[in-house]
Amino acid sequence: MIELEDVWKVFGADERAILREARRDAPDEAVLKRLRAVVGVAGASLSVGKGELVCLMGLSGSGKSTLVRLVNRLLEPSAGRVRIDGGDILSLGPKALRELRSRRIGMVFQSHALVAHLSVRDNVALPLEIRGVARTKREDRADELLARVGLDGLGDRRVGALSGGMQQRVGLARALAADPDILLMDEPFSALDPLIRHDLQTQFMALSRELGKTTVFVTHDVDEAFRIADRVVLMRAGRIVQTGTAEALASRPADDYVRRFVRNAR
Ligand code: ATP
Ligand code: MG
Repeated sequence: MIELEDVWKVFGADERAILREARRDAPDEAVLKRLRAVVGVAGASLSVGKGELVCLMGLSGSGKSTLVRLVNRLLEPSAGRVRIDGGDILSLGPKALRELRSRRIGMVFQSHALVAHLSVRDNVALPLEIRGVARTKREDRADELLARVGLDGLGDRRVGALSGGMQQRVGLARALAADPDILLMDEPFSALDPLIRHDLQTQFMALSRELGKTTVFVTHDVDEAFRIADRVVLMRAGRIVQTGTAEALASRPADDYVRRFVRNAR
């Protein structure tokens, strides 16, 4: 379970001063405009239950990537609490934090961040190698995962020689390697063409459910969010404007912005 409680992330040298200004009640339009460029996340509260698949959506710059990066402390919040399974991750020491990132949380980035010159199998096994798992064991695990994501028998190929869709599958297999409870997916399929994308969405949704992963999935695509999510979260300028099922956002939008955003969904 992931819990964010009134989390803020502001960027800049004078973080404290920016935060103080951003937290003031009802800042005027001019201040808001100035703050928009440096406020990544503004007072977000969200909890994602065990095994739940939540999609974060919003326009470019609305704070989606910033929010997911706060969950594994790739970014330090300027204020607020982040808890995983009830434990405050802000109080973790370096060793526990490494453990959190390498074992309890798997992440897939928009740019998959694979090692191009390594084989598919070695890319998937990399998190296990870092943890000191023996070669045969990690290679067996990698092959098992490659089969799960539809890349059976492609372990020996060089990752750089695969198509974009295949590389995203490798990224997913790698994120699953350490069998984490939590998956953070930052626009993993957005660079892919619609047909492949649709396929991957369906397969990912089934896999995430079957494995019972607690998932935060970032997308700017309403259709994608509505198709795969248990609940969706709409962000705007760092704030969460509404959280609910796709059905709830469509039939009971919190405001006009949500209504307009959701109307684009097919
Ligand atoms: P996209 O859909 O384009 O990926 P996003 O919703 O993921 O957008 P973020 O990357 O979270 O948006 O950015 C939110 C805001 O925080 C933006 O205004 C951005 O300029 C700012 N921001 C993000 N990272 C940094 C950083 N490292 N330094 C300064 N500002 C940043
Ligand atoms: Mg982003």
